[in-house]
Amino acid sequence: MMAAHVIDGKQAAASVIADVTEATSLLERTTGTKPGLAVVIVGNDPASHAYVKAKNSMAQRCGFHSRQFSLPEQTTHEELETLVGKLNADPAVHGILVQLPLPTHLNAERVLMRILPQKDVDGLNVVNAGKIATGDFSSGLISCTPAGAMLLVKQRYGDDLSGLNAVIIGRSNLFGKPMGLLLLAANATVTIAHSRTQDLKALCRNADILVAAVGQPEMVKADWIRSGATVIDVGINRVPAPEKGEGGTRLVGDVDYTAASEVAGAITPVPGGVGPMTIAMLMNNTLIAACRTDRG
Ligand code: NDP
Repeated sequence: MMAAHVIDGKQAAASVIADVTEATSLLERTTGTKPGLAVVIVGNDPASHAYVKAKNSMAQRCGFHSRQFSLPEQTTHEELETLVGKLNADPAVHGILVQLPLPTHLNAERVLMRILPQKDVDGLNVVNAGKIATGDFSSGLISCTPAGAMLLVKQRYGDDLSGLNAVIIGRSNLFGKPMGLLLLAANATVTIAHSRTQDLKALCRNADILVAAVGQPEMVKADWIRSGATVIDVGINRVPAPEKGEGGTRLVGDVDYTAASEVAGAITPVPGGVGPMTIAMLMNNTLIAACRTDRG
């Protein structure tokens, strides 16, 4: 068996970003509209701050108007919702992203519901989640990580997944459920597995497309994978790496990458697979939102 084709998420993301940058410049030249992205972060979580910084700098690279709002840990619902209300009303802001997770005293669902669906570039508001569920891809905004993972799947198979079995491990609103709906819309036969699933290994072995979004380092083993299958690893897990010295860490996915690469037909690495696609699709969604307001 040959080693799997490595699906290059960095390259795919760079191609999305190049298209977004070109379309942004065209939009501004022809209509004067500059896409605007507002990113809101509450608290001091270093990983969340790093993600927000990366989103802001990418927005600037794309030629967007980008604003960051850093609120203190003890921010109340009322304060956060007042800010979201102001951003909803600001015509220069086309996309609003509230970085998750929020501090535990804040209810993310409640805050996400306050974002106008047409500015919900993370695609997590129930209106956008409902549009994906009903197959309305033309007026909704699709949540970024599943949209990015789907683009990688379509790069390999094209738009029509008829006859292919897809298994997703994980049923979160953030990823597993929308990913299942996108695969279903592309005609795959979809199974969504979770912590109560019996005999996960046997189920996974039936997958032509196996998507892991669990949050358990290297849980998916090589003997769970059908020979030649496409493996999309969404997991981002930081684990100790003593080889990097005391306190050293490294990122791994939910799939045992090295062993899985010997069996799979194609596989996404971590880092460098699905991760870069998430930011690229956020930029794409912000551009889409700006184009839609421009058309009224
Ligand atoms: P959640 O914790 O919300 O969901 C995890 C899912 O995995 C749940 O449905 C859970 O089942 C299931 N699960 C947990 N343990 C097992 C198990 N032993 N066997 C089978 N299923 C299990 O996580 P998210 O969906 O938010 O994220 C998943 C992973 O993806 C994380 O590593 C996260 O960091 C990463 N991620 C990466 C992104 C990117 O940009 N690349 C973006 C978003 C997430 P149950 O529902 O029964 O509890």
